[in-house]
Amino acid sequence: MDADRLWFNARLATLAEGTPGLGIVDHGALACKDGRIVYAGPMADLPPSLRAKERIDCAGRWITPGLIDCHTHLVFGGDRAQEFEMRLAGASYEEIARAGGGIVSTVKATRAAGEDDLVTSALPRLDHLLAEGVTTVEIKSGYGLDTETELRSLRAARRLGEARPVTVTTTFLGAHALPPEANGDKAAYVAKVVDEMLPAVAAEGLADAVDAFCEGIAFSPDETARVFEAARAHGLPMKLHADQLSNLHGAALAARFGALSADHLEYTDAEGAAAMAAAGTVAVLLPGAFYFIRETKKPPVELFRAAGARMALATDCNPGTSPLTSLLLTMNMGATLFRLTVEECIAGVTREAARALGRLDEVGTLEAGKWCDLAIWDIERPAELVYRIGFNPLHARVWRGK
Ligand SMILES: [Zn+2]
Repeated sequence: MDADRLWFNARLATLAEGTPGLGIVDHGALACKDGRIVYAGPMADLPPSLRAKERIDCAGRWITPGLIDCHTHLVFGGDRAQEFEMRLAGASYEEIARAGGGIVSTVKATRAAGEDDLVTSALPRLDHLLAEGVTTVEIKSGYGLDTETELRSLRAARRLGEARPVTVTTTFLGAHALPPEANGDKAAYVAKVVDEMLPAVAAEGLADAVDAFCEGIAFSPDETARVFEAARAHGLPMKLHADQLSNLHGAALAARFGALSADHLEYTDAEGAAAMAAAGTVAVLLPGAFYFIRETKKPPVELFRAAGARMALATDCNPGTSPLTSLLLTMNMGATLFRLTVEECIAGVTREAARALGRLDEVGTLEAGKWCDLAIWDIERPAELVYRIGFNPLHARVWRGK
């Protein structure tokens, strides 16, 4: 067997399904050919016929699957630091809104930005994720809220995946908020999302999934269902911002449509958790938003465990409620704020994040046949990835074998 590259003398956390815990291999090796893993397992079991063009001694370092951020709003115009400063100085939401703040300010800045501007402003955020071993990132639209800007945002997201060695998956989030010019007419705006925006996005092949924000301040379950029916008609999988601020039974709605994931979930109940487990809908927890808006209600981790629902973790990187570009810190927050275990945190940014994107057959574990996306760490044990705060022990990042 020929291989392009062989990493040996490594400790592997394969995250392979059916293996206990993190799927640890103590004296491990991993080989790739044409960007795909051809072997991941004990050094002792390496096929004797394996000939590698390049051999890399890992000196006992740990290798995990490349990290996956499965929920971000990385592409947007402007920033909201000034609004943050105003709020800390005691300004009310009304005063901030009058000063042009809030999501409307991001929509305005995103509409004013050209495609190049959107790519350029997102690159430092993407680079920060990559510096911590991210090899796949999901990016949502949702700050355009008109056809032209939604398309431009998704094109910018796709271009980010060409500008850097990383896999970008894109999600159309037209039903994120009501644009100011809709004058409160949600039904008319949802009709526009369904009849005009989504067909245009699908025609250009710009989205891998469709998302919506199901909440009192956003769209109702009925409106969300209309968006999902349209997504289904276009053959696109679904994701949902669900039960973040109240229980509108968004988790159950997502499960009913067989959505890939339901995200946030602070207010999800036992019924919702059971429906998600039965449908295979992944619970994507977003501790950065929980922290930043100083939410006090935690997602029902115990209910997800009891029901057997899978849990992933993501940054939710966005300018309003989670200006976070660190999956390592996200893991620490998942543990400290939500009491996830080390195994749950690491699986949540690898295997389960891949599942939440419908990409588990391609990435998320160290198994032959998958893309050779790796993070190589200077650590003594995997718990260090979750334990430390503001420290990056990444030694090397490998995307598709390089
Ligand atoms: Zn979000």
